[in-house]
Amino acid sequence: MKTPGAIAQQLRGLSEELEPPSQCLFDPQSEEPLLRRTSTAEFSGLELGQIRVIRGGKPRFIHSQRAADFRKRYFPQTTQSEWNDWRWQIRHRIQDLKTLSAMLALSPDEREAIARHHGTLPVSITPYYASLLDPSDPTQPLRRSVVPVTGEYLTSPGESPDPLGEEHTSPVPGLVHRYPDRVLFLVTDFCSVCCRYCTRSRMIGDDETARGFNTRHWEQAIDYIQKTPTIRDVLISGGDPLTLPDEKLEWLLWKLRRIEHVEMIRIGTKAPVVLPQRITPALTRMLKKYHPLWMSIHFTHPDELTPEVQQACGRLADAGIPLGSQTVLLKGINDQVETMTRLVHGLVKTRVRPYYLYQCDPISGSAHFRTPVSKGLEIIQGLRGHTTGYAVPNYVIDAPGGGGKIPLLPEYVAGYDGKDLLLKNYEGKTYRYPDYCE
Ligand SMILES: *Cc1c(COP(=O)(O)O)cnc(C)c1O
Ligand code: SF4
Repeated sequence: MKTPGAIAQQLRGLSEELEPPSQCLFDPQSEEPLLRRTSTAEFSGLELGQIRVIRGGKPRFIHSQRAADFRKRYFPQTTQSEWNDWRWQIRHRIQDLKTLSAMLALSPDEREAIARHHGTLPVSITPYYASLLDPSDPTQPLRRSVVPVTGEYLTSPGESPDPLGEEHTSPVPGLVHRYPDRVLFLVTDFCSVCCRYCTRSRMIGDDETARGFNTRHWEQAIDYIQKTPTIRDVLISGGDPLTLPDEKLEWLLWKLRRIEHVEMIRIGTKAPVVLPQRITPALTRMLKKYHPLWMSIHFTHPDELTPEVQQACGRLADAGIPLGSQTVLLKGINDQVETMTRLVHGLVKTRVRPYYLYQCDPISGSAHFRTPVSKGLEIIQGLRGHTTGYAVPNYVIDAPGGGGKIPLLPEYVAGYDGKDLLLKNYEGKTYRYPDYCE
């Protein structure tokens, strides 16, 4: 007999090894029984208060009421299972002014920015992520992160298209070898949702078939890794590697796993957040064959932690993949201690360890997103000591010119009094440490 807690846990984590609940369904929020099944007949699209559970076929997905309402309104012909197919989400990503203006009351500035756009970093929003946008408020954090404004076309002093100098540290196309023991492997230039502040905006395209990134490039990169025994850590990024089909991804992982000196593989992705439907049981089954495999997930704001996203992260965590988050500090989006506290608390509840908080790179047209560094320090000071240590990310600047990530900390060392080290704690009180030993 399964306890309500265990079944609610299943609905949250949905580990595919566990039997799906067959007798009762519980609202994972209240843990109260909502429905008792009396027959074994299949049913689908069952309303469970705020949450819908789709049954009757594998895989099962949580479909929040908000997404369901959005789907009915803008995609009335679409079924729930189509909506929950990540390929459908990519095929129906919103890219043009006409479609977006039917969903959002665009400001004149947003309208002009979309109309003027050409080149890399196209407008691209999955229907799922579009369902989270506020139709009437252009200042809503999630909306600002994906809907362009004309500020994108202004280049300010100090900005450049490739501030990290990635192009100069590429031994072969798509591979950035900055640190001796690890490489950044850019396997695609495609993202399902394009973030307006993207560090790699110079290369992010709109072609799903990943033009310019083909197996020939991959083979060159794999060859380089094979021939460079100092590389013990490969970070697969892009673009978003989880927009690749399972087979291509598995080919890559398989090739990398066969290299003896590659001790760990990491995947950097935003898919669990903008395309949670991508995290299928088949994907997690495949990924867990390639352990030790870690994942860094790009999160921006606590409002992204929907039931769908929690389910996607739960599946990855259940597959034994340690999850870390990466967040870019953005003006008016997540630059408040209160917002960041909600984000990091939501992340640890979702079993994602806050890993990096990035100072926004001086990418061309990013002035409207950048905060002063003092803001980041203030946020770290507002977290450290005030909350769980695991919930505090490392605040870093990726040094322009290719110096790598440099950590920044608020000042906790107040100096010396004789041989006593003076330290400030999280409350601002001073403590002494006798810093002398023979
Ligand atoms: C961020 C990054 C890495 C990984 O850095 P960690 O601090 O180990 O997470 C590796 N290579 C490049 C080029 C990077 O930008
Ligand atoms: S997910 Fe990453 S690579 Fe893709 S647009 Fe956003 S920041 Fe750029």
